[in-house]
Amino acid sequence: MREFDAIVVGGGHNGLACAALLAKRGLSVAVFERRDVLGGAAVSETGVWPGYILSTASYVCSLLDPWIVQTLDLGAHGYSAYRKHPSSFTPLEDGRSLLLGSDDAANEREIAVFDAADVPGFHAFEAESARLGSALFEAFSDEYPSWARFDADTRATLEGSAAHLVERYVRTPVLQATLATDGLIGTYAGPRDDGTGYVLAHHYAGRALGTQGAWGFVRGGMGAISQALASAARAHGAHIFSGADVIEVLMRGDRAIGVALADGRELFARTVISNAHPQITFSRLIGDDYLRDQVPGGDALVAKLRSWKTVGPSLKLNLALGELPDFTARPGLHLQPHHRATIHVAPSLDFLQQACDDARREGESREPMLECFVQTPTDPSLAPSGKHILSIFAQYFPYDRSGGWSETARERAAERVIGMLARFAPNLPNVIEARQVLAAPDLESRFGLIGGNIFHGELLPGQIFDGRFATRTPVRGLYLCGSGAHPGGCVSGFPGRRAADAVARDLVGAR
Ligand SMILES: Cc1cc2nc3c(=O)[nH]c(=O)nc-3n(C[C@H](O)[C@H](O)[C@H](O)COP(=O)(O)OP(=O)(O)OC[C@H]3O[C@@H](n4cnc5c(N)ncnc54)[C@H](O)[C@@H]3O)c2cc1C
Repeated sequence: MREFDAIVVGGGHNGLACAALLAKRGLSVAVFERRDVLGGAAVSETGVWPGYILSTASYVCSLLDPWIVQTLDLGAHGYSAYRKHPSSFTPLEDGRSLLLGSDDAANEREIAVFDAADVPGFHAFEAESARLGSALFEAFSDEYPSWARFDADTRATLEGSAAHLVERYVRTPVLQATLATDGLIGTYAGPRDDGTGYVLAHHYAGRALGTQGAWGFVRGGMGAISQALASAARAHGAHIFSGADVIEVLMRGDRAIGVALADGRELFARTVISNAHPQITFSRLIGDDYLRDQVPGGDALVAKLRSWKTVGPSLKLNLALGELPDFTARPGLHLQPHHRATIHVAPSLDFLQQACDDARREGESREPMLECFVQTPTDPSLAPSGKHILSIFAQYFPYDRSGGWSETARERAAERVIGMLARFAPNLPNVIEARQVLAAPDLESRFGLIGGNIFHGELLPGQIFDGRFATRTPVRGLYLCGSGAHPGGCVSGFPGRRAADAVARDLVGAR
């Protein structure tokens, strides 16, 4: 019977990164992915609408580990990212708007329209966010992550709120909100809630575009990252199977010895590495009772699984457009700089907090926060000629909304989102040619994101660093390589890299 050095459960980008790194070190590796398409939430899907390539889940890149890109030579396997420029556009209902990018002089002119006194504060915020992001980046590959590596001031900032962080530097409401939104992405918390300071800094940790904290698009959509990782893994000899649902981690006592697939096959390995959400990995594929009875430390593990915060507030709406959105604040159907930026509906911190508080009280935001992207102007290969994709990430539409998620609730949420954006771009409702609504339960069923949480669990203090699930699990021979492990979610590859390091070290040590 064939025994692999490592079986990876799940072909998300982290599972693929882990497999590629292990295969490069000469280990025999097999990856089993439940879906027919690789990539998990870093995916480019064809066939949703004819002629379109859709980044159905994630849409922009910053955190992808440059070491992985270089070590696996991902450029040679088709990966290419380019910076978003400008970076953000926030229209207001009174016809004004704020456009920010990498050009200092242009930023200063834009901010001065609202309040020239905010210009120095904006620069100071940029410096502080880069400092925080850099400190996190340095911590992302730690074998044993710990808060203790940060000084008391830095810890206090990360444990505090995103609002507190931006209010220290600037006072213009639209500028504050534009800077704070990344602290809320994927997180069921408002800007004034503690811990969103960490989420904000996490979004400044990336260096994929060569500049600390810069974000960009990936040519061919986010799945191009996963495809490049899969191609590198195969080139180093890894076997990758899609449409292969793992239904059980095979155990002998407290040791993982392989996996069982839905088609009845059993495969064996010296190590099993799971890219799946921790609750899938442990509770579904092994079982809480088994863990408690057979695995030392199983009680504590099960308690952690049950208290793990993984209720997601995000809804993804992908729209096929016949023409570009025509913003009242910067009119015209022709391609303009703001169309290439992240388009925010986020006029003030109070608005964002209200969006969250409404959801807590009433089940969803009356006026949602939106983050929108149109990649097609800079990568026309994603849509038929002259057409565009508008990708909208909306909050707060939580998984556990009262009344549940019926088809009507989904459609109503989509209408609410479109109506919200149409206040700033009135042509929008008339140019939509197709739409895909992915509410939190759809993110769960499609991608295995339990509770619809895009990060495999909130990235808030208590669930980060040593509060996240350990890469080396209490089950002998079982490792976690997905976002449930440090440093958590986003398309970074770090959890995969850390798992590959741990497995390589343990297997070589065991020989
Ligand atoms: C709507 C949305 C928007 C986002 N936007 C961004 C963004 O713009 N930029 C960014 O950096 N991040 C973004 N994120 C977050 C980011 O996409 C995720 O954190 C990241 O892709 C997770 O990668 P992963 O490899 O850890 O896990 P996943 O991508 O969740 O991969 C896990 C894989 O395991 C598979 N699997 C699960 N169970 C089994 C089983 N039993 N058998 C076989 N296979 C199994 C799943 O099918 C999946 O392919 C977004 C996420 C979502 C959902």
